[in-house]
Amino acid sequence: MKIAVLPGDGIGPEVTREALKVLDALALPQLTLFEGDVGGIAYKRHGHPLPAETLEMARAADAVLFGAVGDPECDTLPREYRPEQAILGLRSELGLFANLRPAAGFPGLEDLSPLKPELARGIDLLVVRELNGDVYFGDKGERDSAGGREGWDDMSYNEAEVRRIAHSAFRAAQKRRKKLTSVDKANVLETSRIWRETVIELAGEYPDVELDHMYVDNAAMQLVRSPGQFDVIVTGNLFGDILSDQASACVGSIGLLASASLGERTTEFGTFGLYEPIHGSAPDIAGQGKANPVAAILSLAMLLRHSLGRDADANRIERAVAASLSSEIRGADLGGSASTQEIGDAILRHLQAIA
Ligand code: ATP
Ligand code: MG
Repeated sequence: MKIAVLPGDGIGPEVTREALKVLDALALPQLTLFEGDVGGIAYKRHGHPLPAETLEMARAADAVLFGAVGDPECDTLPREYRPEQAILGLRSELGLFANLRPAAGFPGLEDLSPLKPELARGIDLLVVRELNGDVYFGDKGERDSAGGREGWDDMSYNEAEVRRIAHSAFRAAQKRRKKLTSVDKANVLETSRIWRETVIELAGEYPDVELDHMYVDNAAMQLVRSPGQFDVIVTGNLFGDILSDQASACVGSIGLLASASLGERTTEFGTFGLYEPIHGSAPDIAGQGKANPVAAILSLAMLLRHSLGRDADANRIERAVAASLSSEIRGADLGGSASTQEIGDAILRHLQAIA
């Protein structure tokens, strides 16, 4: 088993260190870790945010554990040298088209949610967002028009693209509560009409999954009005970008949530993937021991489950995190005073107590 560890910038290395402590405690047999530079640090050391050797290391691994990229000192660089380009490059070079973002309320932390506690408590959903297509990757440009300069962006999805993300979502639903909501805007968009028809065609292959469809505007409303109705949500790149941030915000702190980006490539143990916290490099708190490592540790749990086929270890980590969160050891983002390292240590202690 090979894991490429790419800690990146800002708090990336601090939170990744805690995840690696947890991984170490699992004492997995035949595990090899490779560490590479990515983002601003890679630009400073190698002249590029995604050096060829880092990309090769990621390709050769069964999974990538990613911290965060982003460095204010790189803000004035030409776009291709900016740290953020590294994660976009990794996603496209590695064919990672499915972004999985679980959002579930943490017991005892309902007050972090902007929603009423009883609604927050009911959140247990997974957003499956298509990552390689849609309006973000279509032809785009600027042209003259009667109304002055006009910007345009092509939105498109073909059946093959919809099919592969829908398969991922149906399979994810099979492992959960077997309910899938496909989100589109089929009443006005041709892209969405093809999306919906293709998802419906596939549904026959998953008779055990209950499928429904929702327009994106309604989905946004339902997410805050009754989030408990959702199990798995599948949607395109643009709608998924917005809805996954909205779903995360319904749960609470950005320091708690993890994500997985998966493709079609399988490994000896599962699906190849890249795992990262949903938060960024947080330069405002970097180097101060204030970062919450929970998102990074939960990203490791997702890695173990999806890429290494180690469900039991993943469950153990998630239980340890939940136990630690409901104890009094909390970071500044949750109104406590525990440091990054203290939170990691507390999770380790709980992990060791769980057989
Ligand atoms: P990016 O563009 O890379 O997503 P961003 O500018 O959206 O970055 P983040 O880096 O995610 O922002 O930070 C947003 C805010 O949340 C910051 O104030 C940051 O300090 C805080 N934050 C982010 N991650 C954590 C964490 N793990 N623990 C505590 N606070 C965090
Ligand atoms: Mg952000």
